[in-house]
Amino acid sequence: MHLRAIFRFFAHLGWIAFLTLLTQIGGFIWLLALLAAFFLRRQWPLRGLTWVVFILLYLAATLFLVPPLARLNGRVPMPVFSNPQLRPESLWFCLLNRHYVRPDLRATLEKVAQDMQKQFPGAAIWYLDANFPFINGYPLEPHFSHSDGKKIDLSFYWTHAVSGAPVNANPSPFGYGLYAGPLPNERDYAAGCKQKGYWYIDLDGRITAPFISGKNYRFDAARTRELLRLLAEHPAIRRILVQPHLKQRLGLSAFGKLRFQGCKAARHDDHAHVELR
Ligand SMILES: [Zn+2]
Repeated sequence: MHLRAIFRFFAHLGWIAFLTLLTQIGGFIWLLALLAAFFLRRQWPLRGLTWVVFILLYLAATLFLVPPLARLNGRVPMPVFSNPQLRPESLWFCLLNRHYVRPDLRATLEKVAQDMQKQFPGAAIWYLDANFPFINGYPLEPHFSHSDGKKIDLSFYWTHAVSGAPVNANPSPFGYGLYAGPLPNERDYAAGCKQKGYWYIDLDGRITAPFISGKNYRFDAARTRELLRLLAEHPAIRRILVQPHLKQRLGLSAFGKLRFQGCKAARHDDHAHVELR
């Protein structure tokens, strides 16, 4: 009996750590749910009561409590449904509270999304991981620089290989991991990093590979180029990380804000990492 209690304690501890890494507030809410379920169980001895309480508390906090509190911390949620031109790649980014930014970054992206319409009417900007709502310096794993509300990842654009029709959002079920890799005549920076021992450089791609067939999709250079150009021209943007072969291929070599992230972070030919000044 004793051993079982000890095992349960550590299982909860691990789960709380996991929820905290994934959603920032989830671990704390799991603790509240455990406490609430402890008292509620006397009235309603249901199986899975902790889970029911957790989901209700988590959703209520995410929808009603976190946004106003984040505002006190100088962060706002990115649009979820309100702007058809600026949308989450997946609702999960929002449900997990990973879509918070400084108001200036949101305003900048709203403007760029509007400017995209001139050349590509109806095109949306699809965002991926941004920042958590609270605490400057608290990183959004696994992107360690996403810790100050100034960082956001944006999806590249893709078309269906057969029909040529634009793909909504990103073909990868996770938003990451489908690479617009180097062509035979382009330098492969990711391979160079891997040779130096940075094994995790293409980890996203290896996780995604079983779920998606890359040959069904074609990298949409025109829309991606326009997005990167508009971002680079916006004075509020400090820098944008992309793989160098794309910068060159898209004819954006003149833009000093487009940079190579080096070997320390994952490769950037599946998304652009954007930083506010
Ligand atoms: Zn990033």
